Amino acid sequence: MRALALLIAVMVALVPRAWAQSALPDLGGSGELTLSPQVERRLGESIVRDMRRDPQFIDDPEISEYLGAIGARLTQATSGARHDFEFFAVRDASINAFALPGGFVGVHTGLMNAAETESELASVLAHEIAHVTQRHIARMLGQQQQMQIPVMAALAAAILLGRSRPDLMAGASAAVQAGAVSAQLAYSRDFERDADRVGLQALRAAGYDVRAMASFFEKMQRSQRVADDGTLPGYLRTHPISTERIADAQNKVAGLPYKQHLDSQDFHLVRAKLRSESGDVHDAVSHFERSVRERRYANEAAARYGLVSALLRARRAADANAEVAGLRATGASGPMIDTLEARVKQALGDPAGAAKLLAASRTRHPHSRPVLYAHVGALQDASRHAEATATLAEAVRSYPIDPRLRNLQSQSYAALGKRLLQHQAQSEYYALQGSLPAAIEQLQLARTAGDGDFYQLSVVDARLKELRAQQAGTR
Ligand SMILES: [Zn+2]
Repeated sequence: MRALALLIAVMVALVPRAWAQSALPDLGGSGELTLSPQVERRLGESIVRDMRRDPQFIDDPEISEYLGAIGARLTQATSGARHDFEFFAVRDASINAFALPGGFVGVHTGLMNAAETESELASVLAHEIAHVTQRHIARMLGQQQQMQIPVMAALAAAILLGRSRPDLMAGASAAVQAGAVSAQLAYSRDFERDADRVGLQALRAAGYDVRAMASFFEKMQRSQRVADDGTLPGYLRTHPISTERIADAQNKVAGLPYKQHLDSQDFHLVRAKLRSESGDVHDAVSHFERSVRERRYANEAAARYGLVSALLRARRAADANAEVAGLRATGASGPMIDTLEARVKQALGDPAGAAKLLAASRTRHPHSRPVLYAHVGALQDASRHAEATATLAEAVRSYPIDPRLRNLQSQSYAALGKRLLQHQAQSEYYALQGSLPAAIEQLQLARTAGDGDFYQLSVVDARLKELRAQQAGTR
């Protein structure tokens, strides 16, 4: 074990110097030791690309959009530099959340479960967002500018994810031992204080309950005491919580008038969705059956939503369909209810019915991307690929940097036998995720697909040139 660690240490110590010459010019080269936003974004993309392969990664646009809506509310409320944030959930029972370089924020399902109010969840997101906007991550990593991107990405992941990714941790601790980097594996006290201060301001400006921050800290500290095997919840390891921090958060809001924040319907629906999809499927069904029957719920629509969702997961489409009426009877409406009902129709073998329902939902919620994705999915399910590609072509004009749309496009072109267009769309999908080699490979396939006209081929050639130049610039 120690021999292996030493070997890794030596490798890590040697590698950056060999790469230094080619890596230096493109790291922004400012006098201050912070990463440029471009490098920060690339680091984040590279870590998220790795995480996406993990089965724990929850690739659910409804959950991402919900977290993103809280994030947007928090960032819009505070003035300052605009930042593009992307949120995602990770299936992990531990209480944790983390910000990666470039504005990617991950939230463990354990944390979403432990947060009893939307304000508690928002307080954690506000703190993570502050680490990004205050450029803490860029400053922590700024001293490692001589490192090549993949090595720095491993280090960043180890610092920011704590021990939840032991595979990445090994490389980073070896690097520290070797003296190749001088990194601390947690945010400093100053950074924590700063993130609490800025996060609290955002929480207040966005209209959340400001007392939620201190109360959630206390909750996490209690869960730390309960774990008597000496392990800390992930969040406390990367964001050390002291009694001083809790007192600070309490003092800052002590004089403020109490402001109630009502939890949104989506807060309850998202939690029900996560619960219905985790653990044993039969446990999930009986959990929601019981809470509906005994009326033990914080929110009736969410309990009924969870029951329909769990029944779908148990492949009991007819039972799920029977429960939809009860869900609608609560008066609940909105994109998440529509997409759930559409999923029930698809499970019943009625994709046309689902497509019709979702087309109507899109006129009510024209800006909901989860509804758009679901609509395209239902059209594809009904083998209506020409309609799907027409819908997607319009959607791509509105959201040119959405990789999911390009992936759906590629699927429908493949079904229609349009090979050049299929590979072209797939190439954009990879390019938008920062994976240039895969994007270039797809364009090469598009060139030799044999079904493109002169105009299409010249577009492919021009784009290929562009991507190759980009790749040469990042090497
Ligand atoms: Zn922190």
